[in-house]
Amino acid sequence: MSQSRFNALDTIQNRAEYDMEYVEPSTGKISDFFGENTFNDAAMKQYLTETAYLAMKSAIQGGAKISREIANQIASGLQTWAQERGVTHFSHWFQPLTGKNAEKHDSFFNLTPDGKIIEEFGGDVLTQQEPDASSFPGGGMRTTAEARGYTIWDPSSPAFIMEVGGDKTLYIPAAFVTWHGEAQDFKLPLLRSQVYLEKSAVGVCQYFDKNVTRVIATLGWEQEFFLVDEALFNNRPDLQMTGRTLVGRVSAKNQQLEDMYFGSIPERIYAYMRDLETECHKLAIPLRTRHNEVGPAQFEFAPVFEEVNVSVDHNTLLMDMMERVARRHKLACLLHEKPFAGVNGSGKHNNWSMGTNTGKNLLSPGKDPANNLQFLTFFVNTIKAVHDHADILRATIATANNDHRLGANEAPPAIISAYLGATLDQMLHEIETHGKSSIGAVKNAVDLVSKLPDMEKDTTDRNRTSPFAFTGNKFEIRAVGSSQNCAGPMMVMNTIVGHQLNEFKHQVDAAIAHGKPQDQAILDILVQYIKESKAVRFEGNGYSDEWKEEAAKRGLGNRTNTPEALKVMTDKKNVHLFAKSGVLSEKELDAHYHVYIHTYVTKLQIEVDTLADMCTTMILPASINYLSKVAENIHHLKAIGLKASSYSTQHEIVEHISKHITGLGDALTKMHEARHAADGHDHLEHSAAAFAGEVKPLMEEIRHHADSLEYWVEDSHWPLAKYRELFFVR
Ligand code: ADP
Ligand code: MG
Repeated sequence: MSQSRFNALDTIQNRAEYDMEYVEPSTGKISDFFGENTFNDAAMKQYLTETAYLAMKSAIQGGAKISREIANQIASGLQTWAQERGVTHFSHWFQPLTGKNAEKHDSFFNLTPDGKIIEEFGGDVLTQQEPDASSFPGGGMRTTAEARGYTIWDPSSPAFIMEVGGDKTLYIPAAFVTWHGEAQDFKLPLLRSQVYLEKSAVGVCQYFDKNVTRVIATLGWEQEFFLVDEALFNNRPDLQMTGRTLVGRVSAKNQQLEDMYFGSIPERIYAYMRDLETECHKLAIPLRTRHNEVGPAQFEFAPVFEEVNVSVDHNTLLMDMMERVARRHKLACLLHEKPFAGVNGSGKHNNWSMGTNTGKNLLSPGKDPANNLQFLTFFVNTIKAVHDHADILRATIATANNDHRLGANEAPPAIISAYLGATLDQMLHEIETHGKSSIGAVKNAVDLVSKLPDMEKDTTDRNRTSPFAFTGNKFEIRAVGSSQNCAGPMMVMNTIVGHQLNEFKHQVDAAIAHGKPQDQAILDILVQYIKESKAVRFEGNGYSDEWKEEAAKRGLGNRTNTPEALKVMTDKKNVHLFAKSGVLSEKELDAHYHVYIHTYVTKLQIEVDTLADMCTTMILPASINYLSKVAENIHHLKAIGLKASSYSTQHEIVEHISKHITGLGDALTKMHEARHAADGHDHLEHSAAAFAGEVKPLMEEIRHHADSLEYWVEDSHWPLAKYRELFFVR
């Protein structure tokens, strides 16, 4: 009898009610408490001097630098605000390349040299701190002797108070750099890419509207995740160690009935969602949408979109909160891209667009897109940018986890293509051939039945199979992984579109200088871009094999594993792109590349060791025990003189089990050897390639045998929570 699994099931069965510390907000209206734990505009107005307030505003809106003197005033206001709310500690809060947020708390409390007790928080401390950087991944950017790193306050993302078990800490969003000021995190490159995009986009907007002085990139993410009971989670070493199940037979019922998507939200999950939403709303994370997803026990949250830097911070904060609040509800939140084989994985669609200070969405087609030259300009330039730089966009979504999704016939394929929808695709086609198009974006009304209001039909349909889809007034990057920091793909979008807009402006200005009227110059160049970027446009089924062939003919990349996809980060073209835009120096890019490769190898090493451990200590013993039991039975039956035909079923069971035990044992030995060989390479890249090419297939082979054993072994002997339990017991 497998104690751990059945204890877990008992625990769930016997929980009278789930431990819900749900605190009812003081009012039913979210707007009454939204952002109450952030140093938002209202708090700044109340706690800052006018000079400090205005300095903050221009830092947030115009990216102006804050002097150390003003920082002192801001720190003082921030300290008062925080202490009045019971805060004792503060921390810079940053996003190293580990992918997890980092923090180091200090108290306001201090002792003066003469022993006096004081509470202090100065501008210097607010602006800059020095965590020991040596334990963060640096990708070779630091020599061992250079342990220093700095975190630098980002005034454009509001400070907030985090409550953990009644304890309150002031968090200050920050960038993380080396002693030389090189980016060691996700935030600094993202901020640089925004500055770059803004400059290029404002330049181009000037053709159309002289009032545009600011352009921001906007992001609205959609966060998918799974929830399983904590007791079952604790029974699975693979979930604990790697975030995904390394073995596990798919349950008979999983998602085939398609009854999960948008289904009614189970009570326990609903309590979790409301609790989480309340916490998030207090932190000004603008969650708006919640629903069941396609996979069993899979769900999604989406917010109102925001300026990209704040939106990224809010997403990383949300992921942190999701895990914390889940624990309160005796649930485990799985953010991994593929926790379960055989059912959908989790992604994080990144909806990206650009907005101006005049309140315009630059990717909004309006009623007459074909004659909306500003829309066409930004639309076509974005497609051209993705066409020219699909390789680097692909690299930003390359992780060990996401390899289980991309191209695995459920998520977008690893081939980057753009879906525009029939109307806009046709419009570009007409503009390409005739220089104009008469296609409008007016919604058609469809009469369903006299009892119902007319249906308004959108001009663009949806295409789930496209990794980069235009959805009405924004592009949706659908291939981003659920556990990823959005900053990577967002930084690349800003950079490639910024770069493309610069090229465009350069060409338009040259044509104007040669006497072409502005609008004609713009249109001619757009027509040229439409032709040049045609290969990346695809309206069909991105999962099909025909597309793989067609894409190869078109010369589109199809890099199906992480080491291959990451390699392009070292290409001259990309080194040049990032250096020229000022987003990442060659040294920084190289360092980031090495961190990603290193992370890939390390994740696989952990998976291999966990799998080996589970096989040796759980799966093989359980299988061998049951095998002996059946073999003994045969022995007894034989001893009392029964014919072989009367224990043929037992024979069959014994044969299957011993076959899979042997198969698993052999594959295990081979996996150990392959891992050893992969570890032994001098170059990290060769190690990564060996893990992808040699080790991973053996893990799959082991899984095949383990899952077959799960089928044959008596249920009460099986040590690991089964998929049906993980999916449906709550
Ligand atoms: P779906 O694509 O699932 O239908 P929505 O259209 O509601 O969902 O949008 C999904 C996400 O797109 C949300 O997070 C939303 O905030 C975001 N979004 C909407 N408009 C923009 C925009 N202009 N820029 C960036 N994100 C946007
Ligand atoms: Mg969407």
